[in-house]
Amino acid sequence: MLPSFNFAGLPSRVLFGSGTIAQVAQEMRNLGGRSAFVISTAGRSQQALMLGEQLNGMLAGSFPGAAMHTPADVTAKALAKLTEVRGDCLVAIGGGSAIGLSKALALRTDLPQLVLPTTYAGSEATSILGETTAGQKTTLRDLRVLPETVIYDVDLTLDLPDWVTATSGLNAMAHAVEALYAQDRNPVISTLASQALNLLVTNLPELRRCPRDKQLRSDVLYAAWLCGLSLHSVGMSLHHKVCHVLGGAFQLPHAQTHAVMLAYSVQYNEAAVPDLLAPLAHATQCQSAARGLFALGQALAIPRGLKAIGMEYDNLDRAATLITEKPYWNPTPVCYEPIRAMLEHAWHGAAP
Ligand code: NAD
Repeated sequence: MLPSFNFAGLPSRVLFGSGTIAQVAQEMRNLGGRSAFVISTAGRSQQALMLGEQLNGMLAGSFPGAAMHTPADVTAKALAKLTEVRGDCLVAIGGGSAIGLSKALALRTDLPQLVLPTTYAGSEATSILGETTAGQKTTLRDLRVLPETVIYDVDLTLDLPDWVTATSGLNAMAHAVEALYAQDRNPVISTLASQALNLLVTNLPELRRCPRDKQLRSDVLYAAWLCGLSLHSVGMSLHHKVCHVLGGAFQLPHAQTHAVMLAYSVQYNEAAVPDLLAPLAHATQCQSAARGLFALGQALAIPRGLKAIGMEYDNLDRAATLITEKPYWNPTPVCYEPIRAMLEHAWHGAAP
């Protein structure tokens, strides 16, 4: 018999395909928008220009200054520009940084959002917003930040560099992995998460060989959406807490941190929930899900260990304190000594 569960679907519209960017103007009109405020990071400003051309004269202004972890001062600058140009619809193109800024503006203005994700971070599918003020990252859940419309256009992902593909792909996997053992897990999301893990484990290594293969890109983008749905729908545990602390307090890069830490977080939990992690072990064709993930990370040439992505050894003690002070629910108790040991292991990049 199935266990009892709760499930709430998302009130958002999703278009998925190739060339779907051509539908952006119509989708914006469907949201009641007439003047778009286009948001991107500096690195995606060319794609933002291309997007502006698709808007058929409905471009109010743009802000190509989104940054990782949604810093409050950047949001304030973007809000001033949005007010000046009187945009009535937020249109973000890019990864989680651009979409995070769009969410932060939606929270403050209640404007509708239309987003075009170009990485696999999954933020577009969640009502979660993480913001950073004076080095402190705080997270909230509020349906006002959930984008009303998401346009997935696989063509926007064809040029994603290898390192973004690998680390962002593992960032997506992290959502699905923690959904498998979430305290409030449910069979719908467990099924989606397992499917996403299979697609990612199979296709990410192939993408290293054929980065512009549309079929592979499409499978990975679809899997990333499923991972985003998983992140939205159930609670996350130790792994997301660790990455939240390392990103917020020590400015480590988001996707790389997820990519490096995932095998160690899984190792921390695997003995407590081997059955729930079985789909991951099965996907990686390894008896141990943690070792399977580590091997996948190596095959994808992700950075080896926290040291390689800029974590100072002297900060490990403080990180362990921050992680254990207010832990998220986790299948294995979150205590200082084993967490400090996990960070030590992860800093050196040792095999689980
Ligand atoms: P990002 O948006 O900063 O993008 C990473 C890099 O990839 C950038 O340099 C960007 O310019 C480049 N890039 C993006 N798309 C590209 C493309 N198509 N081709 C070439 N280069 C491209 O990073 P990210 O990992 O996507 O997002 C990280 C941010 O998202 C963090 O702030 C994180 O907290 C947030 N996030 C939020 C949620 C949520 O649910 N709230 C979920 C996941 C991530």
